This record gives sequence, structure tokens and C-alpha cells, in this order.
Amino acid sequence: MHELSIAENIVEIAVASLKGNGRAVVREIELEIGTLSGIEIDALTFAMDAATKHTPLQHAEVRILTVQGRARCNACAAEYDAADFFSPCPACGGFDSTTLQGEEMRVKSLLVQD
Ligand SMILES: [Zn+2]
Repeated sequence: MHELSIAENIVEIAVASLKGNGRAVVREIELEIGTLSGIEIDALTFAMDAATKHTPLQHAEVRILTVQGRARCNACAAEYDAADFFSPCPACGGFDSTTLQGEEMRVKSLLVQD
């Protein structure tokens, strides 16, 4: 499962950021996931549950913020919300576009309690 390896990677990043503070407990972890990242939020939520077991994130509340996909048309420079990589430009119908945002997959913040 794609999302499980992503969740394990997120937990690794979070644990590494605790910098050897073995007693630290993560209360909350905030993730930013773009709608064009190919990650299914439901599957990721489920995977985070499994990946955080027996780690300092075990009881952390997982908050997932989605980032709407945005693209700029390379033909007419219009910017628009893109549901996927194959959405045509709503202004001119062109398919040649540059993705501006929506591919994010990152840990935005950690709330740690010593
Ligand atoms: Zn266009």
C-alpha cells in the first residue's frame, strides 16, 4: 500500500525532529497534502494509525490539510483550480499547463509535549 510507506516516512521525519528527546510526546501532527499528490486522504489517515503505533506519535491527533491543485495555462496564462493533471484550461481549452500547487506532501507542524 502506497499510503503506508508515506505514513512511515512521515513518522520517521517527525521522530527525527524530536532530536533525541526520547521522552517527548507528540500531541498533534499537521500534514499538508495536495489534491494532485495522488495520496488518498482516507487511506493515509488509516495508514497513520498503523504507522504511529509504538512511536512518540502514538496518541497524536493527525490533522490533514488539503491543498487545492492550481495550474497556469501556458497558452493564455490563466490560473485555475485543477482537479487533476488532465484538466483543460477553462479560458481557452488548452491542455499545456504548469502546476502551481497541489503536489505537496509535507509535515507542516508538530505539537510536542515534553
Ligand atoms: Zn488557457
